[in-house]
Amino acid sequence: MSSIISVANLSKTYGSGFKALKNVNLDIKRGEIFALLGPNGAGKTTLISIICGIANPSEGRVLVGGEDIQTSYRKARSLIGLVPQELHTDAFESVWATVSFSRGLFGKPKNPAHIEKVLKDLSLWDKKDSKIITLSGGMKRRVMIAKALSHEPQILFLDEPTAGVDVELRKGMWEVVRTLQQSGVTIILTTHYIEEAEEMADRIGVINKGEIVLVEDKATLMQKLGKKRLTLHLQN
Ligand code: ATP
Repeated sequence: MSSIISVANLSKTYGSGFKALKNVNLDIKRGEIFALLGPNGAGKTTLISIICGIANPSEGRVLVGGEDIQTSYRKARSLIGLVPQELHTDAFESVWATVSFSRGLFGKPKNPAHIEKVLKDLSLWDKKDSKIITLSGGMKRRVMIAKALSHEPQILFLDEPTAGVDVELRKGMWEVVRTLQQSGVTIILTTHYIEEAEEMADRIGVINKGEIVLVEDKATLMQKLGKKRLTLHLQN
């Protein structure tokens, strides 16, 4: 598999002098699900923000689809759908309007067939006219994914998609992610949960204190850990 994202020698020092990322090197393969695993404050969100061009690195370079995210921002950014940790929607807008508006922000021509497909893939079609405020927590999360997919990106970032949600919602999210991979989208998700990384990912990267300390195929990692499978400990 070829790389769709290439991160080279990336460092980030915040104004306070705090080093949030230290010489990160990482390649994401086209079509894979990559889980970035790390504790609170490890640097996951900082890394995603820089790859997506939302924050600038102090040092290093990011190529997305071969384009430099800093110097070819619009082209590189159009390949990326980003689902941040927090929900960002207008509570009184309909699902359809929310997703269509998001597509418009990328300057894409209207394409109702694509919006319909996205909403159907995410089991939101029968809610297309509902206002966001009336939806369950799980549906709101799926609307965030639909927004991120509205402009037909090749890559989807999910920043802690199941943080603070119950077991059923978490499993539902895993199903959604698998469906999206089957439709050809490359997926990078961050998580605190090793069981989520095990369940979802083709490859797992571990970040700690701003450093990537391990990147492995899931199967190799499982072997190294000396277990056929990590025990699934779901809370709730
Ligand atoms: P979490 O799992 O809690 O979301 P994370 O792995 O996503 O954590 P980041 O949010 O990237 O971690 O934060 C990495 C470190 O950088 C943390 O110590 C955080 O306090 C610090 N940090 C993040 N943003 C800033 C900022 N704007 N200014 C200064 N320090 C920051």
